[in-house]
Amino acid sequence: MIELHRVSKVYSVGPVKVPALREVSFRINKGEFVVLTGPSGAGKTTLLRLLYRDDIPSEGDVEVLGASLVSMGRSQVAALRRSIGVVFQDSKLLPVRTVYENVAFVLRVLGTPRREITARAFDALRVVGLSSRAQAYPAQLSQGEAQRAALARAIVRRPPLLLADEPTGNLDESMAAEIVGVLKDIGAGGTTIVLATHQARLAAALRRRTFTLEGGRVVKDEG
Ligand code: ADP
Repeated sequence: MIELHRVSKVYSVGPVKVPALREVSFRINKGEFVVLTGPSGAGKTTLLRLLYRDDIPSEGDVEVLGASLVSMGRSQVAALRRSIGVVFQDSKLLPVRTVYENVAFVLRVLGTPRREITARAFDALRVVGLSSRAQAYPAQLSQGEAQRAALARAIVRRPPLLLADEPTGNLDESMAAEIVGVLKDIGAGGTTIVLATHQARLAAALRRRTFTLEGGRVVKDEG
């Protein structure tokens, strides 16, 4: 599903070189739920960005869903991104659209038939436990509900891979636990998940395979 071969990433900030990842290699199998943890600045976001080809490595190779990302053309990148759901700390919902419309929109731009859009959008909302809030606007949601809506939007295309970058960063402990529960449910359905969090307690409570990053290196791979 995912393979990294000696991946390094160096950002250039003017004349300064900032190493973000150093010779990272690992393999994640289909259906695995992997937690990326480590302090702020360890390289978690950089690693996730390489997986959905938001950026390319300075050295090494990244393979996702059977394709090498480094030499990909534009149409292949578009196809890759349709196969990957992504959620962030901020839910990034469109404020002038209802929860249902935020989720359905993803399918509408793909030209999905109307009846199928309705069925699949409600299916995604059911998975995240938000069916009763379908007609609410983002401003009417709690932060936990907003993250559930973002998750519904990320899974509505039924992607084989879901990437989550600090999805519980804005949430209190009980809402964070709920979101983690939803992620586990999504994983139980067969979706491969990579979740980045700097919250060490949350990472430990997940009881899933955990990569610990420090200074751009994977210093532990456990579980
Ligand atoms: P984390 O997600 O673990 O907090 P990041 O991947 O965001 O870590 O950052 C890793 C390192 O790379 C940090 O030193 C950060 O300052 C640097 N970095 C990240 N993105 C950029 C960028 N776009 N330009 C320059 N430096 C960056």
